[in-house]
Amino acid sequence: MKRVLQCLTLVILAVTLQQCTYSQSNTSKKENMDTSKKNPVYSRTDSSKVNISEEEWRKILPADVYAIARQKGTERPWTSKFEESKEVGTYYCAACGNALFKSDTKFESGCGWPSFYEPITKGSIIYAPDNTHGMSRTEVMCGRCKAHLGHVFEDGPPPTGLRYCINGVVLDFEKARAAEKKYNEGDQQNKDAKKGE
Ligand SMILES: [Zn+2]
Repeated sequence: MKRVLQCLTLVILAVTLQQCTYSQSNTSKKENMDTSKKNPVYSRTDSSKVNISEEEWRKILPADVYAIARQKGTERPWTSKFEESKEVGTYYCAACGNALFKSDTKFESGCGWPSFYEPITKGSIIYAPDNTHGMSRTEVMCGRCKAHLGHVFEDGPPPTGLRYCINGVVLDFEKARAAEKKYNEGDQQNKDAKKGE
């Protein structure tokens, strides 16, 4: 009898433990989802400058974005999914949502980081001299929130001759809808034309 009881206790314990693990993984999933919504400054339409404390940034940005955007870190080369991406669309600042680059100015530089030859508008990027690591470089930052993005070099392709070497971690990408819209509109025109026949 004692044995049976022991067995039962074990079974109950095992089930409880399982449930525990399950509910735990569930909550951590929820928390992960929430962090993306916790960034109150992120906007793709608001162009007003973002001026909040480093402490505030640390709270609202995912750790990898914070390390690069606010602490001027550099991601390991060849680690960004955007490095070889040829998708058509727009690249935004991952810290604040400011539009930075269009995919048609992206080129394969072979340097290991996503590279562009021109920002989307003049004001979308700001520049600062960077003399760290024994090099003389030009740092590029987001024009809206001053997030560190990467550097610009003068060995890019025409028409600008510039190479904006950007950390993929601080980029958000949105596929272009224009092409799709155009296609649908064309489809509608075809239908209209058929109606008229
Ligand atoms: Zn930004």
